[in-house]
Amino acid sequence: MKKPNLTGMTLEQMEQLFESIGQPKYRAAQLFNWIYKKRIAKLDDMTNFSKQLRQQLSESATIGLVRLAKQVSASDNQTTKFLFTLEDNLHVESVFMIEAKRKTVCLSTQVGCPLGCSFCATGKMGFQRNLTAGEIVDQLLSIQHILNVDVTNVVIMGMGEPFLNYDEVIKACDLISHDTGIAIGKRKITISTSGIIPGIRRFADEGQRYKLAISLNAADDQIRDDMMPINKKYPLNELINAAKYYAAKSRHRLTFEYVMIRGVNDSTRDSQKLARLLKGLKCKLNIIPYNSIDEKNTIPSEDQIDDFIRPFLNMNVVVSVRRSKGSDIQAACGQLYYDYHEPKS
Ligand code: SF4
Repeated sequence: MKKPNLTGMTLEQMEQLFESIGQPKYRAAQLFNWIYKKRIAKLDDMTNFSKQLRQQLSESATIGLVRLAKQVSASDNQTTKFLFTLEDNLHVESVFMIEAKRKTVCLSTQVGCPLGCSFCATGKMGFQRNLTAGEIVDQLLSIQHILNVDVTNVVIMGMGEPFLNYDEVIKACDLISHDTGIAIGKRKITISTSGIIPGIRRFADEGQRYKLAISLNAADDQIRDDMMPINKKYPLNELINAAKYYAAKSRHRLTFEYVMIRGVNDSTRDSQKLARLLKGLKCKLNIIPYNSIDEKNTIPSEDQIDDFIRPFLNMNVVVSVRRSKGSDIQAACGQLYYDYHEPKS
């Protein structure tokens, strides 16, 4: 029988494990601390456990779920991209970014993605499986271990749609924010969805305190249908209603991501439509000029971006433009995987 993995276990699960091997429950808090706070890579590193206890533990459980396959840093050293191998030899990507004092990791939640957004490399590879909470958390633990850094912020924005793997994603966020472990504050963790309405409503109903971002990308159903086929199932009006429902319940400002693609969704007409759609909603609009994975789409000019954000200046909308970070290492979601699995001839 396959041994359970300690990475991804909650404190309660660790207590059960200790009980099952005839050890006192208080050991669980120590183990939790070793795994999530001290980031040990092997059970033998737990120096306050006797050799006998370590032996007993290693007979009943294992540690670590992802292995580094590839690591690439951008020329400015502010962004590092990781490709990790899972136990079944599938791969996922994660990114580490430094911006002033903020050290952010972007984590994946699925291997591939079933939603096939037109602008996304992950969408082109199809869906293989959901990640477990342990595999999500271990991306972060591994990055902290490899780079010897303390991550301050987390964005769940890598490969996959987090709300199609809701339970494991929330479990992972609960582990990441647990105050005796990694201890990253809930408001420093952002979950970004492509607009899975039942997920947004559940997130609101459960009173989750993690930040919510919705990848919007168009203010027009026709354009959004083309960019994000999930829009056919959850069209814009219903999505905005769900966003309003979340905003009313949580009282938190939610973020809309807008990947801006030249000639597709970057006109003044698009921005006026978007302004009408977001009217009355206390939110943040994050414009992301497109980080191309092919030659077809090119990045919008600074003037286009300035024109686009003008209608929001007098609204209750905080606008930010996320300049492409790490484009020389293909830092956008799915691009390293793409490169690794489809070497250029
Ligand atoms: S953008 Fe997100 S939801 Fe869309 S295909 Fe890529 S990973 Fe999936």
